[in-house]
Amino acid sequence: MGIMQKHGVTLSDLYEARRTIAPFVRRTPLVPSAALSQHTGASVHLKLETTHDTGAFKIRGATNRLAQLRPEERERGVVAVSTGNHGRAVAYAARRMGARATVCMSELVPRNKVDAIRALGAEVRIVGRSQDDAQVEAERLTQEEGLTFIHPFDDPYIVAGQGVIGLELLEDLGSVDVALVGLSGGGLIAGIAIALKAANPRTRIVGISMKRGPAMYESIRAGKPVAVTEEATLADSLGGGIGLDNRYTFGLVSQYVDQYILLDEAQIGAGMRHLYREERVVAEGGAAVGVGALLEGLAGRVEGNVVCIISGNNVDMDIFTDIVTGKYKY
Ligand SMILES: *Cc1c(COP(=O)(O)O)cnc(C)c1O
Repeated sequence: MGIMQKHGVTLSDLYEARRTIAPFVRRTPLVPSAALSQHTGASVHLKLETTHDTGAFKIRGATNRLAQLRPEERERGVVAVSTGNHGRAVAYAARRMGARATVCMSELVPRNKVDAIRALGAEVRIVGRSQDDAQVEAERLTQEEGLTFIHPFDDPYIVAGQGVIGLELLEDLGSVDVALVGLSGGGLIAGIAIALKAANPRTRIVGISMKRGPAMYESIRAGKPVAVTEEATLADSLGGGIGLDNRYTFGLVSQYVDQYILLDEAQIGAGMRHLYREERVVAEGGAAVGVGALLEGLAGRVEGNVVCIISGNNVDMDIFTDIVTGKYKY
């Protein structure tokens, strides 16, 4: 039975995703962190999703989703709304699979982000002055031109693609006691949790967001999807809502996530700075939250095999330099 027929995503969907994406997406390294292991007394490892061609894990889910397109859908093309890692992932996967891709974004998006997505071969459509305007245009393209909308997280094939990370972690470590994962729409943490909890239901799954606009955290507290006001944050890849009509990830996150942590801007910056100075890894804000939480002791007592998902490296290099040299004003 295909995964669209049911409301969950299962371990076998993750194995199928792995077979599907293997020709297009590389397996990423898991490296031990001596500094964080010493700091916590646990055995801390970093999963380097920064090593993908697009610099972030979203290539996994996007590739798995695009692989499901029928030939006529591939011909007509796909559309996404994103200025960041999802847009890059869809553009990249579309090119690898010979599909047309259109990425909608607003006039306010910086030139370098537009260029990065164009360089991957996607058509960029600039509309209006907000993400909502871009969303309206994407919906028009699906209805009037028959393009297929590719959701950044709320799709079983996206969740299963991100979950391949969990399969790789289990192969490398045998078992995982604590997983620290950046949390926005929840596709990443849900996919990883499906793998880790199947292997060991006692694995602690920790979701980490920023204090500035944590949509999933507020939704879980409210017991239903709610909208939050978007604010500028160093963890920009964790921004945005979960969708008031959320179908999959709200339920999956409610089921699987054991602990939520919110970080302020200085704590996010501390994670980035540690990764650069001690681990020699360039990470964007949203990818450094697990390390930030460990440094601040916010995850409580951690023991055994602890993994931090270093989810991406797409960060403005001028801001990054200020953060790692201590010049950034929080
Ligand atoms: C999208 C993203 C996340 C969060 O993933 P969700 O599936 O939306 O929870 C974390 N880190 C980076 C770098 C991302 O691009």
